[in-house]
Amino acid sequence: MRLDSPRRRRHLADVAARLPEHVARLSWSASRLREERQTRLREMLTFAAEKSPWHAERLAGVDIATFTEADLPSLPLMTKTDVMSNWDRVVTDRRLTLAGADANITAKLRGETTAYYLFDEYQIFATGGSSGTRGVFAWSWEEFVQISCATCRYQLRDRPPESLSGRRMMAVVEAGEMVHGSAFLFAVSTDPDEEIAWFPADSPTDKLVAALNEAQPTHLVGYSSTVELLAGEALAGRLSIKPAFVATNSEPLMPEARVAVREAWGVEVNNTWGSVEVGMLGVECDFHSGMHWSDDLAICEIVDKDNQPTTDPDKIEKLLVTSLYCRTLPMIRYELTDIAVPLEGACGCGAIYPLIGEIRGRSDDAFKYAGDVLIHPMVFRTPLGQDPAIEQYQVHQTERGADVGVIARGTVDVERLRGDIVDALQSRGLDQPEVTIRLVDTLEHHKETGKMKRFIPLRT
Ligand SMILES: [Zn+2]
Repeated sequence: MRLDSPRRRRHLADVAARLPEHVARLSWSASRLREERQTRLREMLTFAAEKSPWHAERLAGVDIATFTEADLPSLPLMTKTDVMSNWDRVVTDRRLTLAGADANITAKLRGETTAYYLFDEYQIFATGGSSGTRGVFAWSWEEFVQISCATCRYQLRDRPPESLSGRRMMAVVEAGEMVHGSAFLFAVSTDPDEEIAWFPADSPTDKLVAALNEAQPTHLVGYSSTVELLAGEALAGRLSIKPAFVATNSEPLMPEARVAVREAWGVEVNNTWGSVEVGMLGVECDFHSGMHWSDDLAICEIVDKDNQPTTDPDKIEKLLVTSLYCRTLPMIRYELTDIAVPLEGACGCGAIYPLIGEIRGRSDDAFKYAGDVLIHPMVFRTPLGQDPAIEQYQVHQTERGADVGVIARGTVDVERLRGDIVDALQSRGLDQPEVTIRLVDTLEHHKETGKMKRFIPLRT
């Protein structure tokens, strides 16, 4: 797949034209940011109440003219199921329907259309449904511009094109289908002289490695698990590239992946985090102190399982996100089950936007066992992530324990590893856990998106 069309080129030109304004936002004062949030929040609520019949009902009686952030908890939250069950009434453009959006996705999957835009305006994407619920979302022309600017602005500030020299080529290792947003979003470059090449993340590792060896990219952008895999290939001596910039997206970045990239290429990862529903929420700058919240574009309430605000990292279960610019499907207190842990303190770069320490995966990925025993994926991450001989892993929940697939880059002491996982599960209350470990060459990826799901709960 090669992302190119006259319309796409115009879209990229619009992104480039808007980026300087977004870079300027990185120097905003706290009061300027507060003012922006207040203004945009009321604008968005007004628009939603006028154009979305579903939101109009939910916002009935709300005095938008005096509404502030502090009033958000008085509004009902919304879930992916809400959006999917009420799609045609949530949407603000009456030309759009879920049936029409689904037809567009199907036509793209079957190769019946090569147009990226519906009505020349919307890009329609299906989410992988890592939480089990399929989602269909639309980005308008303007929404794509905003999401792209949020993704690229720190990079443009920290590495302005005029400071770069020599050949530049960005390898974008993303989803293999045009029904997923990642290929469209992460193939946006801040550098007009940079060549962009696209590689499907779900191709066999040896093919991907050969293609990258041939292309010799200077910039590498990809799914976190894919970048981790490629760093492992580089350390094993099979991949010989020298990227000066490595950015990850779409999946939680494992601490061991950061280490592997540092060892393989001598650079720090610039991680990003977002979702197709609400866009880019966190972006890491070149100071690498954490990811900056996109606080000018979204209001995020960090809450526990009862939707009460919390700052205790062990109690955080989800986020309620209110997008300040999404207009197609307005997101007001939209529930994301990502566990985002905020960091104290400011970034050395001076930007006012607070920091996110890590994304601990998703709360709905927890494994539930008989007797109400709940095991969070973190429990597996400790023994599996610390073994330098393990390149990648995938954990399938089983009735009484787990089945772990491991791609090794050295000699893995399988018995010791098994013992460590058994101990960890036992200490969290699982009686006589059964754990199997398999050394494998490849791990399962999602069919539509090419994403790898690291922890797979047992479906009951
Ligand atoms: Zn920073």
